[in-house]
Amino acid sequence: MAEMNLPLSDLGRMHINLNDQFGAHNYHPIPVVLARGEGEWVWDVDGKRYLDMLSAYSAVNQGHVHPRMVATLAEQASKITLTSRAFYNDQLGPWLKELTSLCGGGRALPMNSGAEAVETAVKLARKWGYLSKKVEQDKAEIVVCDANFHGRTTMIVGFSSDPQYRADFGPFAGGFKIIPYGDAQALKNAITPNTVAFLVEPIQGEAGVIVPPEGYLAECDRICKQNNVLFIADEIQTGLCRTGKMFCFQHETCKPDLLILGKALGGGFYPISAVVGDDSVLGLLKPGDHGSTFGGNPLACALSRTALKILQDEQLDRRAADLGNLFRNRLRAKLPKSVVREVRGKGLLNAIEIEPSAGTARKYSERLALRGVLAKETRTTTIRFAPPLVIRQESMEWALQQIEEAFCQD
Ligand SMILES: *Cc1c(COP(=O)(O)O)cnc(C)c1O
Repeated sequence: MAEMNLPLSDLGRMHINLNDQFGAHNYHPIPVVLARGEGEWVWDVDGKRYLDMLSAYSAVNQGHVHPRMVATLAEQASKITLTSRAFYNDQLGPWLKELTSLCGGGRALPMNSGAEAVETAVKLARKWGYLSKKVEQDKAEIVVCDANFHGRTTMIVGFSSDPQYRADFGPFAGGFKIIPYGDAQALKNAITPNTVAFLVEPIQGEAGVIVPPEGYLAECDRICKQNNVLFIADEIQTGLCRTGKMFCFQHETCKPDLLILGKALGGGFYPISAVVGDDSVLGLLKPGDHGSTFGGNPLACALSRTALKILQDEQLDRRAADLGNLFRNRLRAKLPKSVVREVRGKGLLNAIEIEPSAGTARKYSERLALRGVLAKETRTTTIRFAPPLVIRQESMEWALQQIEEAFCQD
């Protein structure tokens, strides 16, 4: 793989060498070694400044080291950080109330990573299928989509359609059926009496910011409800203001039975994830059915409470909607058609699709890094742009200038 000729200092090179020598090589990072962040900006070990247009895959919607998050971290860390669920703590209850009220009611179950929350949703859907829908034991089916991304556990990669995610990691768990994304009729055809749930991303982020046809989510929701199938929205990446609404499903008239959240739920400070849903599903769990040592710990909950308040107080949904429109309109008008096939997305979850004849996404993301804009290719010809939602308009204007120049360079 051709490495970019980014002028790396000895210090930067030293850190990369440590990764190469002692780490597992399960990532291919852009060779930038970050040491500090503030809002939409990050600095490398040599003090060079970059605009962060990835936001840790949408986990830093609130911006780097938000002062309110820093204050909450210090305050809660000096009180109590971990109790386990063997006891109650004074942060979990208020967090559950605030989160469920934001989601329109119901109950919530806290976990840590996104993948754990997806695992939890699968367990809940199956339990609901056996207890409520009366599916025969071990026959429950869950419908998922082609090119899905729901995490990296062995169960989850078992229903991935990406050969690399699966290769050499089998055997896999059964009970999943893959259908094309964006095709509601395919869902209708896939449902059998044993189908307990449809698990879907409202926009497929990792697949390259694939926006389904308008009305798709509403139609799937309707089909699920008609067939007594749970509609599960994985909003780990699309949720929490990223697409211009608090949740992406709110762009359409639908109501998921289970909502899966993660990433920005911890404001970039602490891993926390959740499954939110109605009592008719969440209420089926009994003590001992499920758990997590760190899930619902007071430090995570305190930080998440502040993370949710920031989203609302700073109206980051509106910022994402407005700046997203600016981003797409400007680039659609300015980028050369010979190089860029499409600019797509919603809110501040966007992608540039490059003409294969114009080179790889990696080439352009490296060019952008040289210009001080950090974005990461997600597929061979796709670059995703997902800056912190606190990004200032003048920073966005500057980034657009850099993107235009990088794509017009030859
Ligand atoms: C990131 C992501 C996950 C997995 O979250 P982790 O915290 O990395 O386990 C699951 N689903 C979607 C849609 C994601 O973007």
